[in-house]
Amino acid sequence: MNGIAESDNDDLFWVNKKNFHLSSCEFIDSPNQDDRPKECKPEIIVIHGISLPPGVFGGDYIRNLFLNTLDQNKHHYFKQIGQMRVSAHLLINRKGVITQFVPFDKRAWHAGKSEFKGKNNCNDFSIGIELEGEDHTIYEDIQYIKLAKTLNALFNLYPHITPRDVVAHSDIAPLRKTDPGPAFDWCKLYDHLIGG
Ligand SMILES: [Zn+2]
Repeated sequence: MNGIAESDNDDLFWVNKKNFHLSSCEFIDSPNQDDRPKECKPEIIVIHGISLPPGVFGGDYIRNLFLNTLDQNKHHYFKQIGQMRVSAHLLINRKGVITQFVPFDKRAWHAGKSEFKGKNNCNDFSIGIELEGEDHTIYEDIQYIKLAKTLNALFNLYPHITPRDVVAHSDIAPLRKTDPGPAFDWCKLYDHLIGG
């Protein structure tokens, strides 16, 4: 553990049960959300990796994408995705800064065509967490630390969700998606989950 991790362990994350916002992070409301189907609660947590443009870290482009304010003239890749209406509940950037875009009780638009244990449309029953990253670039330690804290807060909020229900985007859309990729170290995540 480095100094950042130790000092960072002091603050426990929690979820406000009135508005389903995570503590210790900025909340920016994405227009790309709606109600979950009736009687539908989160059952799984989907881990993603995203970088915009692909392989480039830093900047506000991911945030812009989730807010429908991405300037398509900034990069040729943005012309492909600028019309997409997508979001995630949370983004954890390379510095470990967390931004929430959708309350956990609402449906974020992160999974696309997807299936988990025979059920389609995983957005209906999942929470989506984006890590700023790329399939073949190791993720930052601080991202694992913040992700583990977030997951523990979500396990407290939804006790039926366990570490077994934390899956990769590539698990629920294996023909279309590869993220968070081989660079994401699941063992490291589990170590941090146990460590608290
Ligand atoms: Zn993804």
